This record gives sequence, C-alpha cells and structure tokens, in this order.
Amino acid sequence: PVGLVWLRRDLRVRDHAALYHALRSCSQVHCVFLFDAEILAPLARADRRVEFIRESLVQLDADLRALSGHAGGGLIVRQGVAAQEIPRLAQQLGATAVFANHDDEPDAQARDGAVRKALQAAGAALHTYKDHVIFERNEVLTLSGKPFSVFTPYKNAWLRKLNAFYLSSYPVERHAQQLAPRPEGERRPVPALAEMGFEPTNLSSLPLPPGSAGAARLLADFLPRLADYGEARNFPAVKGPSYLGVHLRFGTVSIREVARLAWEASQKHNAGAAVWLSELIWRDFYHQILAHHPRVATHSFKPAYDAIEWEQGAEARRLFAAWCEGRTGYPLVDAAMAQINQTGYMHNRLRMVTASFLVKDLGIDWRWGERYFAEKLNDYDLASNNGGWQWASSSGCDAQPYFRIFNPVSQSEKFDQAGRFIRHYVPQLAGLPDKLIHAPWQAGARELAAAGVELVDAGQVPGMGSYPRPLVDHAQARERTLSRYGVVKGSV
Ligand code: FAD
Repeated sequence: PVGLVWLRRDLRVRDHAALYHALRSCSQVHCVFLFDAEILAPLARADRRVEFIRESLVQLDADLRALSGHAGGGLIVRQGVAAQEIPRLAQQLGATAVFANHDDEPDAQARDGAVRKALQAAGAALHTYKDHVIFERNEVLTLSGKPFSVFTPYKNAWLRKLNAFYLSSYPVERHAQQLAPRPEGERRPVPALAEMGFEPTNLSSLPLPPGSAGAARLLADFLPRLADYGEARNFPAVKGPSYLGVHLRFGTVSIREVARLAWEASQKHNAGAAVWLSELIWRDFYHQILAHHPRVATHSFKPAYDAIEWEQGAEARRLFAAWCEGRTGYPLVDAAMAQINQTGYMHNRLRMVTASFLVKDLGIDWRWGERYFAEKLNDYDLASNNGGWQWASSSGCDAQPYFRIFNPVSQSEKFDQAGRFIRHYVPQLAGLPDKLIHAPWQAGARELAAAGVELVDAGQVPGMGSYPRPLVDHAQARERTLSRYGVVKGSV
C-alpha cells in the first residue's frame, strides 16, 4: 500500500515515530508538510516561527532526498486547510493510510478529528503515534489510576517507569528504500516566505540555527555545559540553559535523543544532567495535564481561582501595554520584556519574574500575559506556557502559593547581581553602579546625573538616557494582591 506521512511538530527524518511506522507497513511512502491556513491566518506577518519552520523544511527536504537515495524524493509542501488538503493529497497519491504523530492541544485534536473523518469518507485511515514526549496521556498514573496533578510524585513515577526501551530511537534509515519519488507536479522547492504572505524576521541574526543541523549544533554546544546546568540556569546573563526549546517544540530534535543523553549522564552522577532531566519531565507533566484537562487552556486549573477579579478597562490596558513594551520602571522586568520582544526568547527565571509581576504587581489576568507570550515566544507551546502562567498566578496544579509574591528588586539583586543582563537590554541604565541598577528610583540626583540617567514619569516611553519611574509600588501592590486573592482562601 501507499502511505502518506503528515509532518507537523516533528520536522526531522531521524528517530521519527510516524515515519518509521509508515515505512514498516507501506511499500511506498510520501511525506507532506502543510502550511495550515487556520494556524497562519491570525499570525503577525513577520513571525520568527514561520521563518524557523520554513528554514527547517528546506533542510528536511534535503535530508529526505539524501535518505531516499533518489533525486526525485523529498518533501511535498502544501498550503491550505488540513481537513481538505490532506484527504485530497492522499487521494491524488493513491494513499490509503496517513501517518502522523500525536498532538494533544485542543485545536489540534479537533483538526485531527476532522481530518480522520474526511479520510474515512474517502476510504483512507489516519494512524497516529506518540513522538513528542517520553510519556503521554495515561502512561503515568497514580496508584489509583488517576492523572497526577503534583509534580514530584509524577516525576518519581515517571522515573520508575523509564527504561532503555522508551529512550530508544526509531531506526528510520533501515527502511528508507520505501521512500517514494515525488509525483512530477510536486517537485517544487519549499515556498519562500513571500509566497505565503510573510516577511523575513531577524531570525538569521539570532544564535538560533534552524533545522536538525541547528539542533545538533546547539546540543553539541550545550553538552560540555551540562554539569553546570543546575547552578548556571538561574542567571540570565550566563549561557546556562540549552536554548533547545524551539527545537523541541518543532521536533527538529527528538525528545528521546535528548532525554537519553540527560538520563545517561544523570546515571553517572552528573548533577546538572539530573536537573536538566527534571525540566524535561516538567515538559511531559504539563503535556499530560493539558491532555487530561483541556479546559486549562481557558480556565484556571483550580476552579476557585476563576473568581478572582482582575483589573479591567482603560487602566488595565495602560498597565498591560507598559508591561508588554518594557516600561514598568523595574529594570529586570523591562530587560526581560526587551529580550522577548527583540529575540523571541526569554530566560526561564525571567519568565517567572515577568509573569509574577504582571499578575501580582499589576493585577492583570494571567490569560493576557499567556496570550502575549504565545505571540512572541519562539518556543511557544500551549501546554508549557499555560503551565508556566498558571504556576505564576498560583491557579495551576502544583503552583506557587498565592501569598508567595516575587519581589522584582530582590530577584534582580539575586539573579543579575552585577546588572549585566539589565545593562545589555536597558542600555540607558548602563552607567549606574551595580547597587543602584536594580532600583534606579532610589538613586540620588547626583548619582543619576553622573550616570547620565533622567527619570521620567511612570509609564513614559524611555528615550536615550531616560528611564521611567516605577509603574506601581511593590509593597502596596503586594497588599492589593493579597486582598484580591482573598476569594480563594481556604480553597484547594
Ligand atoms: P532548558 O533550561 O535548556 O530546558 C530544556 C527543555 O526542557 C526546554 O527546552 C523545555 O522543553 C523543557 N523545559 C524546561 N523548563 C520547563 C518548564 N518549567 N516547563 C516545561 N518544560 C520545560 N517552555 C516552553 O517550551 N514553551 C513555552 O511556551 C513556555 N512558556 C513558559 C511561560 C512561563 C510563564 C514560564 C514560567 C515558563 C515557560 N516555559 C515554556 C518553560 C521554560 O521557561 C522554557 O522551556 C525554557 O526557558 C526554554 O529554554 P531552554 O530551551 O534554554 O531550556
């Protein structure tokens, strides 16, 4: 039979579950990537992720041709609505089976349901496989067969279940001879951004090489730093983490390969590797939460938290715009927002600090911040982003308790002590001494003048040499938050 592999968030040819199963069960296998009109329509016209995907597909196409060993091989690329395009292509190719990897986001589930139905009507089937995580859905449950909602027992059960089998690669290359040549009409190169109505971004100037080759480069760069990860990961000015988030998001690297490296190193008493593995387990944890509780995409995991009354109206919009644009007057928060706006990346510590600041200092609904991160993050992933925001707003499973409120100044003093990160992203403060850079409003007139800094009104757009006063007073905001969260007192 003829099979069609539909690639989505798994843009690689090695160690690929759906591709492996297709090659094992079909004599001729085609591969397609669909630029999904429904996903692309609402995006800004300059979107780093679209460019990252496009560049990764160029590599994937070349990798497929190399693997198939014939010039006519390679990737079919289409644009359109999945429920129409995938069945249409399957019919054109004479494919009776379509193979894809699981995607447990609610919209993806609805899309796959519609594609499955349309394929069935045409006499074809959709087969799907786990590929994106190590354990999914019901694979790790409590002793009473329920999904976990607390991380540490989940992690312990995850580690108990783990063995070499779950980390082993799918040997796609052993069956590569089944890869079929593309039909004449499909031998087009991957479309340019402009052909899809998108504009180039600054992606090529960022240290974020796309495709499987890019992932391999980042991984090779990270492995010598793995042992230090546990400590170095906390400091935004230090090259501590792996920067692999976007590659894990789009599957340009296999989670099995990455988790295997982490696990093997952690078995050899590499403490950094054990911490890194734990972060990868958080990723699985949030994926299973979303799969079991799709309502978290729009609601608090803990229902009582939906009764909280957030700031509304013009004042809320004013505060939110200042947060988005990095003019809150808190240098670490503003530097972090400059990082996400300029690069699409934000350091994990700063995701926690900025999320906490939006929710607990400005009193803004966490969903607003979640949506902003969804627009901006290169590694945006609904499960992890929602998990992170609900953690910060205390509404999630195993979240930060609501009365623990990050102090943006002490976070800054602790994690960017010498102000290196702030100086990079808020250069107009660079002249302030280390002890004043975290809270410039505490500097005296003489110190400000010596540093060439003029303090302007809160919320003003900073210019060369000027910086706004704080948007809110943290101590007062803290009190307001404790009373705002009063409605959840006593709830679980
Ligand atoms: P590393 O530190 O090298 O970690 C390796 C990988 O482990 C990451 O790439 C990621 O896949 C996974 N990981 C690490 N930390 C977490 C975590 N806390 N939860 C889930 N997975 C984790 N991560 C995303 O992948 N997408 C998001 O949209 C996202 N949004 C977040 C929003 C908030 C408010 C918070 C607090 C965290 C969010 N995270 C998100 C988690 C984490 O911040 C990023 O995964 C990490 O910063 C990515 O950088 P890295 O690849 O260098 O990570």
